[in-house]
This record gives sequence, structure tokens and C-alpha cells, in this order.
Amino acid sequence: MTAPTLTVHGAGRTVTGSCFQLSHGGADVLVDCGLFQGTRTVEALNREPFAFDAKAIGAVLLTHAHLDHSGLLPRLVAEGFRGPIWCTRATRDLLHIMLPDAARIQEQEAERRNRRADRADEPPIEPLYTLADAERAIDQARDIELETQFEPAPGFHARLWNAGHILGSASVELVAGGSRMLFSGDLGPEQKAFHLDPQGPHGVDHLFCESTYGDRERGAATLEQRRTVLEKEVKAALARGGNLVIPVFALERTQELLLDLARLINSGRLPHAQVFIDSPLASRATEIFRRHQRELEDLGDGEIFRHPSFHFTETVEQSMRLNAMSGAIILSASGMCEAGRIRHHLRYNLPRSDSTILFVGFQAQGTLGRTLVDGAGRVRMSGRDVAVRAQIRRIDSYSAHADRSELIAWVEARKPVRGSLFLTHGEEQALEALKRGLESGLPSILIPEIGERYELPAGAPAKRLATGRVEIRDALSRDWQNDYADMVVNLKRELQQIRSNRQRAEALARMRDVIDQYADHRKKHHRAADEGARESRSPYVSGP
Ligand SMILES: [Zn+2]
Repeated sequence: MTAPTLTVHGAGRTVTGSCFQLSHGGADVLVDCGLFQGTRTVEALNREPFAFDAKAIGAVLLTHAHLDHSGLLPRLVAEGFRGPIWCTRATRDLLHIMLPDAARIQEQEAERRNRRADRADEPPIEPLYTLADAERAIDQARDIELETQFEPAPGFHARLWNAGHILGSASVELVAGGSRMLFSGDLGPEQKAFHLDPQGPHGVDHLFCESTYGDRERGAATLEQRRTVLEKEVKAALARGGNLVIPVFALERTQELLLDLARLINSGRLPHAQVFIDSPLASRATEIFRRHQRELEDLGDGEIFRHPSFHFTETVEQSMRLNAMSGAIILSASGMCEAGRIRHHLRYNLPRSDSTILFVGFQAQGTLGRTLVDGAGRVRMSGRDVAVRAQIRRIDSYSAHADRSELIAWVEARKPVRGSLFLTHGEEQALEALKRGLESGLPSILIPEIGERYELPAGAPAKRLATGRVEIRDALSRDWQNDYADMVVNLKRELQQIRSNRQRAEALARMRDVIDQYADHRKKHHRAADEGARESRSPYVSGP
């Protein structure tokens, strides 16, 4: 029997853009088709042509609704993919809100960039995909129960397993050509509200394990310990007298916070504060949680859906009215403060010394959320300088991801692994740290790169058939635009901290010197390289 082959199209030595192509006996399936998210260089990968023919893909197996796993499905459909997108029912329900939201953001982003004056002479940018593409992708979604066998394409057998990460999340088991493969998707931690611990089969030929927090030990914070930390933060914020603004991810983190706030209020540990959920996407995601409450743990009597303290705002007018308030708890998206109604609440509350901004999620480099967490005294929002006088606070113990020990335990529970373990969905440091923890009892551990192709035989390690794309490796490893943005933000703050104008001018002059010196150095280097090139054309001089 011939072995299936794997081609890595995303989440290779990086976290986002999850997409793996499996080919066997003339049929092709994808596990995930996700957006690249992060720096501008990484996001530019979303606009590259697919490395496969979208029309030739028989089916997609989707692990969960997060956009870094599902967000390129509308583009796949726009380019001619007509097969089913297999996922759990909850994931399918979530796609109904996530993909149209992503399409709207793509359309707005293209419109915004085309309006910019400095682009007046350039051809207009097309959105990555449209609302119509997103709706067609949703029409192609098919739901399947966990742990139920199905045949996504001729010669492929599949099963989904609970991954414990977010509502509907699954790992994907695939069997083709006698070889059993398991793709983790994103894995949840052990102490996670709503979901059971991740599950999966024992004994596979090839195992694919995410590594997002492969270098991080969170320590076992129980639900109760986390609630105690939240209680302390909320009490301190309310005592300051202003508003408590919490930037949240609309899906999952919002519902976890609502659960914790409801429990704290019901047990009398917090006063009956007014909690406003001011994000249409978060309200709709909460509605989908309600629809799936039978599959969820820790819900009690479902008070998060109808607690007297909770108010789901819908209209912009309702949202605006919150500006005039004090003592309100406002949950709003996006979680990293890059878009959405949260920006409006930040504009009103950042300058208020009695208000508090509480971060409860990961803040990527280069985002407004990260700038605030890093202690900026002033931020630029929609062309205006906004002073930061509010208290900036942070809770680290909320996570939808397994940490290093939990990832290792998940791999242990899948043994024996007869072929290779592939570590995916991670930055360099996380991948290496996880690899060090896994050396024993595995025939082969691989860290695949985007563009690589492997044969995945039953009972033997994977064989690499094609190497990765070097230019993508470079794009993932350094990003000068991101470093530049960080430097500019910090530079302004640092210059403001210098006492006199004269000293500030001197600091700038010294920076100018460094740039000039670097230019001189480059010139000399080029001259030397030119001379070297001339010499190497001589038949008597060998290259370096
Ligand atoms: Zn995820």
C-alpha cells in the first residue's frame, strides 16, 4: 500500500496560518485553512497564491473556529473549492459569526487603505475576500459528532476528538494507506472552564502537536484561584470610582469572564455591579454557547446567559451612553485593542485616573494592547494623542492553551507513536523547548517548515520529499517593520522623559550619528563585495 504524503502550508515554525495538505491515491484533503496573523510581513502571506489547486481539494477537516485555523476558507471557496468542510456542530455554528465578521474586517481594511491620500496613484487593493465568499464557505460546512467514523474523501477515514480548547474544538484523526495520523489542532489546558480535558486515540503512526506554549509552565491555577485574583482586581477598580474596561476576545474569553463574574456576584464576593458586554460579536458568541449548553461543564443553572447584572448592548447609541457612566464594568472587543468598540471605550477611559483597564488575554507585539501593557504614558488613536492616566492591570491566568507539561502529557497519552512526532504551531523558542521535554520513547521528532513535503509511511518515521521555502523562513524570523514600530513608540516616550530641549536635541543628534556611521559601513562593505565579485570571476580564485 502506498503511503500518504503531507505538505505543510502554514503553522510551520510559526503559530498561525494552520493548513496541512494530505494526499493519497489521487485524493487531497486539508486539515484547516487558517489566516496568518501577526506582523505585516506575516499577514502578507495571506495574499500569496495557494500552493495547491483549490478545485482539486476534496474536503477540509476543520479543527476549530479561530481564524488562524478557519480564516482562509472563504478564499479557498472563492478559488473554486466545492467540497465539504467537516467540523463539529458548535464549530459550524461559530463559523456563522466568525467568517462574516472576518470578511467585514477585510472589506473595511481594503476600503480604508484605498482612501489613504498617499496611495492616490496606486491601483486599488481588493479585499482578501468578501461577505459573499464567507457565506458560501458556511454553506459548505458539514457537522459530524465527536468520535464518529466518516469518509471525507475516497481512501481517507476520519474521526474528530475533543481538544478542550474552545467551544467546538477538535483534534483530527485521519487514516489513509494504512497510516494513522492525528492532528492536535489547538489543545486546551486541564483547568479550563466549560470543556473536558483533551482526548484522542492511543497508538498512531504520525502525531502533529501544537506548541504555542511549548516553553511556558503556567502552574496549576484552579478555577477558584483565578476567581480570587479577578475578585481582587474588580474590587480595587470599583474602589477607584471610575469604569473597569476589560478588552476581551469575543469568543470563549468573554464567556469565561461572565461565568467568573456571575459566580463572584452570586456568592456575595462582589457587589451587584453593572456589567456591560459591548461587542456584537461577543453577544452572538454567547448566544451560541447558550445553544450548546448541554455540552458544556461548569454552567450551573446557566446564569451567564441571563444574569440580572449583565447587559448586552446592541446599538451604537447604547454603546455611546456608557461613556457618561462611572463604576461600570465594560467587556469589549477586540481583545488586543486593534479594532472594534473597545477603542472607543479606551479613548474615554484612558485619560481618566479613576478608571482601570484590565487585560486578561495575550497581547501580541505591535498591538495597542501590548503598548499599554508595556507602560506607554501616551498612545496615538485615530490620529489623536491620548494620555494614559488610567490604571493598567493584567491577569495572566486565563488561557485556552495547554502549557508545556500539559502538551507533554497529551503526547504521552497518544503513545506508542510508531513513526514521527511533528511539532507545529509554535515560535522557534517554544518548539525547541517542547522538543527538549519529549526526547524519550519517540523514534523521530520533526519541526516542519512551510513548503516541506513528507511521506508518512505506517510504522516508520516520515521521509522528507521536498524542502521548505527559504523566503518564508526569513519572513517569519525577522520583521524590521515590527521592530521599527516598537522603536518609534518607545522613542517618543523616552524623549519625553529627557528634561531639557537641549538634551533632547543632543540625543537625536547622536542617533543621527549612528545611522550615518552605519551608512558609511554599508558603503565600504559594498565596495569590498564588488571587488570580491570581480576577483571571483577569475578562474584562479575559488569562492568562499
Ligand atoms: Zn485556537
